[in-house]
Amino acid sequence: MKFSELAQFFEKLEKTTSRLEMSQLLYELFSKADKEEIDKVVYLTMGELVPSFRGLEFGMSEKLAMEALSKASGTKLSVIQKLYKELGDVGKVALEVIKREGKGLSVSKVYEELFSIARARGTLDKVMLLINLLKALSGVEAKFVVRIIVGNLRLGVGEATIIEALALLLGNRDYKQVVERAYNLCSDLGLVAETLAQKGLEGLEEFKIQPGYPIRMALAERVADAEELIRRLGRCAIEVKYDGFRLQVHKKNNEVYIYSRNLEPMTEMFPEIKQAVAKIDAEELIVEGEALAVNEETGEFYPFQITMQRKRKYQIYEYSKEYPLKLFCFDLLYLDGEDYTIKPFIDRRKRLEGLITLKNTLELSELRIVQSAKEVEEFFEDAILRGLEGIMGKRLDAPYTAGSRNFNWVKLKRGYKGQLMDTIDVVIVGYFYGKGARAKLGIGTLLTAVYDPSSDTFKTISKVGSGFSEEEWIRLKEILDEIKLDHRHARVDSLITPDVWVEPKYVITVSADEITRSPLHTAGKTGDEPGYALRFPRAVGFVRSDKRPEDANTVEEILRMYQLQRKIKVE
Ligand code: AMP
Repeated sequence: MKFSELAQFFEKLEKTTSRLEMSQLLYELFSKADKEEIDKVVYLTMGELVPSFRGLEFGMSEKLAMEALSKASGTKLSVIQKLYKELGDVGKVALEVIKREGKGLSVSKVYEELFSIARARGTLDKVMLLINLLKALSGVEAKFVVRIIVGNLRLGVGEATIIEALALLLGNRDYKQVVERAYNLCSDLGLVAETLAQKGLEGLEEFKIQPGYPIRMALAERVADAEELIRRLGRCAIEVKYDGFRLQVHKKNNEVYIYSRNLEPMTEMFPEIKQAVAKIDAEELIVEGEALAVNEETGEFYPFQITMQRKRKYQIYEYSKEYPLKLFCFDLLYLDGEDYTIKPFIDRRKRLEGLITLKNTLELSELRIVQSAKEVEEFFEDAILRGLEGIMGKRLDAPYTAGSRNFNWVKLKRGYKGQLMDTIDVVIVGYFYGKGARAKLGIGTLLTAVYDPSSDTFKTISKVGSGFSEEEWIRLKEILDEIKLDHRHARVDSLITPDVWVEPKYVITVSADEITRSPLHTAGKTGDEPGYALRFPRAVGFVRSDKRPEDANTVEEILRMYQLQRKIKVE
């Protein structure tokens, strides 16, 4: 396929505000792609070259992209910079200054060139390679190439939409589950598309876990109290809920790979865990656990802030000596060719106990089998007294449900009076210029939303205007302006129109006093029934770098929190 054809599809995708239309367009695009190229088409549509767990980044700023644009088009840098100020998008600048016809490069060729740019070490090399590539492209092609390079493609295509389009390739939307299953096992939509194109439905149905490809993590639902935990799970396992980094650790022969909850590659950040897992007696293995810093002398956990310090690029070795982390292993997903995700939890745990024997850096999570609410309460009280945030409950007979949140795992957390039991993660979908003192900043309130997986849309839940410092507001405006849109994003459902729409990209955590019903918001709104909103929301911390928009709380979770809150009030 010619890259110009892909760019035409991108143009159409960018303009559409309907998700259905988007999946239809993607279906047409994927049908046209060659079997050998479909993975590349999928990655590029997501603005990537490889799945994010491979950790390949372009490392090029807008500034460098503009330098390359200037040289490739023979336009003065000052003119380019002025245009960028006006248009706010290097892609649009490229379209403006590159007037020639392209040389008709194929998708594979452009992909290859982009790959060389990402792999090049020095900035100068990167710029040179980009200049050469831009010289062979038309304006429209260049528009998307530079957007991909600066990490801001702005098509608004989410994973769920790609999965839907791949299901259409198999026949109809009912095949979504097959596609999703394969995706949950490898987190690589390019590989899923390639398997589908080359081996068809059967290939996807036979898709298997491979160490080195992270499994999308299982998540927990919340319960209000010990009684609900027992009512939902019956006789079950309860574990301490550790407050650290959730890690999925893969061992493949002598290699170890570590992935975060968000499936980012983290291997180099945890040298002591890497070493310890390499010693486990297994050729191939995937385990999950929570890593945190433990005070060797007292055996107590350090606060999360100390564990958090490990998230850095430099001086990791020094930190690993000062605050070594322990991995509290709680699940086994794969062992020497055998898929453990389909086995009952209790069997996975037993096998895990046989593997984690050298109790030093690797420990087993603290677990107890219980059958009464009283036992749960005792364990919970004890965990809270030890400064932990709560406990987890796990169904003994449940498989590991990759990529989904359900009642196979539940969490029971400590609550506060007059405050919601938990904070809520919301996605920023737009902002208002602000009044009074904020007016001079040009930003004063955010419009935020929660995720609705069934429609793959973001539904508004609250305006958030407090919790940030002035510097944070300034920074927020900067990063939001980089992703601002001319119209409401196709995946945002809103009755409110903010001054500026943005791509749903950034997640913030907010605390609130209460969830209330409101006709203004679309979260949970059905027919004439009002939606749900947050009362007195305030941001806690800045933008979450560890969460993607789809990791925000869901509409369903908000409904459940609303019900829990009512129940607690009545009690
Ligand atoms: P939450 O992030 O509040 O949805 O809670 C679920 C998270 O708790 C998981 O993603 C893990 O990171 C963490 N966690 C801590 N201890 C455990 C445990 N024993 N079993 C499972 N998850 C745990």
